[in-house]
Amino acid sequence: MEGSLAHKRALVTGAGKGIGRATAKALLACGAEVIALTRTQSDLDSLVQECPKMLTVCVDINDWEATENALKDVGRIDLLVNNAAVVILQPFLSVTEDAFDKMFGVNVKALLHISQIIARRMKCCGGGGSIVNISSQASQSAVRDHAVYGASKGAVDTLTKVMALELGPHQIRVNAVNPTVVMTARGRTGWSDPTKAAGMLSRIPLQRFAEIDEVVNAIIFLLSDRSSMINGVTLPVDGGFLSS
Ligand code: NAP
Repeated sequence: MEGSLAHKRALVTGAGKGIGRATAKALLACGAEVIALTRTQSDLDSLVQECPKMLTVCVDINDWEATENALKDVGRIDLLVNNAAVVILQPFLSVTEDAFDKMFGVNVKALLHISQIIARRMKCCGGGGSIVNISSQASQSAVRDHAVYGASKGAVDTLTKVMALELGPHQIRVNAVNPTVVMTARGRTGWSDPTKAAGMLSRIPLQRFAEIDEVVNAIIFLLSDRSSMINGVTLPVDGGFLSS
């Protein structure tokens, strides 16, 4: 795995915390040059303290113009991980316009925008590339209070397939990973209620939530040449939730 990532240049969005942060560190450990992007400077400062070779970009990806400026000078990118997302849980009948706009703005619109910027560059460079979008099991299954979040991830699944179709001829592969609940700080907080957790765990054949590294391993595999003929898939990392 490591060999195929050495000398590659990677951009990871939402790299300040959780899965994105762990993915950026794993890519660096595999020999890639990594640009960690997020909107909170203190997260980038602590990341650079841990990994001095990490390159950083601080920008709110909701702001298209600021994102274009921030990415103008990052140079060639071979690997893109669209990981940044917002989760606001609301019962369907209480969904607000603000929550809808926030989730679709980051989870869908910004993902499309950054993918356009980077894929255009990949196409121009002619060396192909690999893009991994972080989706969710909630894109394909009904989860209480996840109407808009799930819909945004459903859009991510569809974007993944169309991007794979249109970018494939340029040797740019596009895939998604669809995790179950992951034991990030946010995942632990969101699923700390034992009754809520038990309801979800009863639907997962492996009867546990995912660890961060289990998601990162799937992302690294899809980025690497080990998955060179895999394109347009939405890969569950869910202990069997979606297939049961
Ligand atoms: P997280 O801990 O909340 O981290 C998300 C990162 O994205 C943070 O660094 C956040 O920065 C950044 N971000 C959010 N909005 C941004 C914006 N507008 N501009 C720039 N950066 C922004 O998330 P996570 O739990 O690791 O989840 C990562 C991905 O996995 C997401 O796509 C999520 O939907 C998906 N996923 C997670 C789980 C789970 O249980 N954790 C399950 C399935 C799928 P700030 O902290 O500064 O806002």
